Amino acid sequence: MNFTPTEEQQLVADMVRGFAEEKIRPNIREWDEAQAFPDEIWRELAELGLLGVVIPEKYSGAGLGYLEYVAVIEELSRVDPSVALSVAAHNSLCAGHIFIAGNEEQKTLYLPKLATGDWIGAWGLTEPEAGSDAAGTRTTARLSSDEREWVLNGAKTFITNGSYAGVAVILAVTDASAGNHGISAFIVEAGTDGFIVGRKEDKLGCRASNTVELILEDCVIPRENLLGELNHGFVDALRVLDSGRISIAAMALGLAQGCLDASVAYAGERHQFGRPIGSFEAIQAKLVTMSSEVQAARQLVLHVSSLKNAGEYVKRQASEAKLYSSEVAVRCAEQAVQIHGGYGFVKDYGVEKFYRDVKLCTIGEGTSEMQRLVISRELTRRG
Ligand SMILES: Cc1cc2nc3c(=O)[nH]c(=O)nc-3n(C[C@H](O)[C@H](O)[C@H](O)COP(=O)(O)OP(=O)(O)OC[C@H]3O[C@@H](n4cnc5c(N)ncnc54)[C@H](O)[C@@H]3O)c2cc1C
Repeated sequence: MNFTPTEEQQLVADMVRGFAEEKIRPNIREWDEAQAFPDEIWRELAELGLLGVVIPEKYSGAGLGYLEYVAVIEELSRVDPSVALSVAAHNSLCAGHIFIAGNEEQKTLYLPKLATGDWIGAWGLTEPEAGSDAAGTRTTARLSSDEREWVLNGAKTFITNGSYAGVAVILAVTDASAGNHGISAFIVEAGTDGFIVGRKEDKLGCRASNTVELILEDCVIPRENLLGELNHGFVDALRVLDSGRISIAAMALGLAQGCLDASVAYAGERHQFGRPIGSFEAIQAKLVTMSSEVQAARQLVLHVSSLKNAGEYVKRQASEAKLYSSEVAVRCAEQAVQIHGGYGFVKDYGVEKFYRDVKLCTIGEGTSEMQRLVISRELTRRG
């Protein structure tokens, strides 16, 4: 397969790189410490078409493909993984689920609001008792006595963008006897009575990305806010996660590239024993390994993105790209700190932040252990 970027893909990558360098890089540390980034950035991301990248133009999206989408996430993450994570959750999870499973009325109502950034999107699958194992979902949805509304009760945890989301997709049990096949998805608008933003998490990394608990307390929504078929929510969520894992793979790739870029620059400028540290073989070997692994990760990300563009089933390839890229990113962040010596251990050069941010990549949207399970199941099933 030929992964030479088309002119359009290169334009998108250059545009996002320019934006990230100019508008994001100068603020990274302040936003990390404040554990937030300003609304203004959401507005600018929307103006650039980055809040509905693969959403068709008829729903006010950019109408681009997955190769452009991964370029967006990679370039944002290369500078600040927090922004990349927030944008990925909005695009792949919330808008993605509505696009995959919504009826025409729901798509027409919600996708333009999301793509134009009028509303930020969140997606709630994880619960205190249901992380890797969604069968532990306790949030319930029952029809009201007149069957005109759904009443949701429960709590979702670790929800990206939850504090300021205009709309959230919430997974809830609708048939307690059917395990994962008794879970449905619902569209819940912020401001609905009983939809409560709970505790904000104080995180190790990706601190500028908003992560909160969402509580549903007799939260009443219209019957037509069921998203997709009844009891089909978890099956749809797995499809959403296939795309979501491509975006976390791209986030990991960008982070790893950011570590490599910072390390190459530092190896050239830092002198010890009268020479740049980049002239020492031990440092060169680290850079060579980082570069080779980043290139290999990029091939996996581009490969799965082009399969996705072609409409193919990508469960195994998405998990492989996520597993490999995120573990490469962890190694690159570790080596970047090592190459920076003591300066890597303090905040001035930014690699300390990559070292904290990177762990999200091996946890969010399915841990590395779960990716291995998915891949082995797919290999066996296909075999
Ligand atoms: C910053 C951040 C943002 C997030 N954003 C969202 C979001 O927007 N929406 C959302 O729904 N969720 C979100 N999540 C939740 C995330 O998807 C979960 O944290 C993740 O799926 C793991 O679930 P858990 O934390 O409950 O870990 P657990 O499932 O409790 O896992 C704990 C450990 O046990 C291992 N483990 C579990 N089961 C197995 C098994 N069968 N075999 C081998 N090992 C196993 C895991 O790999 C892990 O190492 C976010 C999380 C974070 C940290």
